Amino acid sequence: MAAEQAGPRWGGQPVRGGTPTPPDLASLICSFCGKSREQVPKLFAGRGVSDPSTGAVIAPVHICNECVVLCADTLAEEV
Ligand SMILES: [Zn+2]
Repeated sequence: MAAEQAGPRWGGQPVRGGTPTPPDLASLICSFCGKSREQVPKLFAGRGVSDPSTGAVIAPVHICNECVVLCADTLAEEV
């Protein structure tokens, strides 16, 4: 009676306890005002800073809609 009761096999890695936070979710904050993605309606991603040797993004940059409006207002005043 060696029936396999291990459940479905996904072929992936076994899930351990806890819910790991995706790294890209943690970095989703406005680089200008520091608000997180949940605090602003819109968050735009920039190119960020990447490692020249690997090409991997080491410092992602984002800007929220509030900062975009602020910048637009400032630009409009200067014209
Ligand atoms: Zn912002």
